Amino acid sequence: MIIVMKPEAKEKQLKEVCSVLDSLDLGIHISKGAQVTIIGVIGDKRKLSDVPLELMPGVDKLVPIVESYKLASKTFKPESSVVSIDGIEVGGKEIVMMGGPCAIESREQLIEVGDAVKASGAQFLRGGAYKPRTSPYSFQGLEEEGLKYMREVKERTGLKIVTEVISQKSVEIAEKYVDMFQIGARNMQNFYLLREVGKTKKPVLLKRGLSATIDEWINAAEYIMSEGNYNVVLCERGIRTFETATRNTLDISAIPVVKSKTHLPIIVDPSHASGKWEYVLPLSRAAIAAGADGLIVEVHPNPRCAVSDGPQSLTPEKFSTLCDSVKKMVPLIDRTFNID
Ligand code: PEP
Ligand code: MN
Repeated sequence: MIIVMKPEAKEKQLKEVCSVLDSLDLGIHISKGAQVTIIGVIGDKRKLSDVPLELMPGVDKLVPIVESYKLASKTFKPESSVVSIDGIEVGGKEIVMMGGPCAIESREQLIEVGDAVKASGAQFLRGGAYKPRTSPYSFQGLEEEGLKYMREVKERTGLKIVTEVISQKSVEIAEKYVDMFQIGARNMQNFYLLREVGKTKKPVLLKRGLSATIDEWINAAEYIMSEGNYNVVLCERGIRTFETATRNTLDISAIPVVKSKTHLPIIVDPSHASGKWEYVLPLSRAAIAAGADGLIVEVHPNPRCAVSDGPQSLTPEKFSTLCDSVKKMVPLIDRTFNID
């Protein structure tokens, strides 16, 4: 439920409402807008059945939240959230670029890609150390050794690092090395894992499940937030449809829909959405034009030899072209690109 205060409500009246909620052990989330202040109430609303909150001075109305998620809901928090990841803001004016290989293969590979994506204007290096592959016989990742290479590239370039976690153990290990956890499409409804990353303070990049509706996806974000970690960034990475020309179908409409239903930032992964490097540039441009807060793109020094997702990986040169293209677009939509 949310409590909407009257535009002329006094600070003292707001405090009085909050102290009633406090005395009932209900969680409080205050959003101060230009016109009105909204109080989001977290907890069992039956506790309020005998409390005539709507009669309290300064209160305009009580509005039930109809969605199954609350903390992630735009009704609950109307202003957009900006998630800060070791100083880089996602969801602000600046478009955030993340680039790197599908899988970390070697120290040399990661250093080469790291230097290249940094030079192109990316703020993040992506790279999989734990790879949940479709076949159990495919390369499963370098695990902690790969995370050490990530850390080395962070120290060398200043890039922030994001990597996928797949289990409680990988969360514990990765927490020591990375700036942001990624929850992959295949784990979007692994509620136990969502709670695990929710218990940490680390920002989480939550990919959309292969066949997940937008509501299911936002509920997955709610799982993380319900544990106290509000630093969630959503990632649209294409969904399964009847179309076979591309690996998945990029759901561009998810961007404005997500923005209308939640206050969380959203970025787009054009690599997994298309499965073909040729389509990564046009899909990236479309995503930015539709309001995405950033992109996560697979980049490999030699895509032909990549152990995973080579056909959808850009060379460092092509990633640089992509960044230049996004840079040219951003003034049209009142955004900026790596102002450093
Ligand atoms: C990845 O980012 O390499 C990956 C496996 O992505 P997804 O979970 O979206 O398939
Ligand atoms: Mn991949």
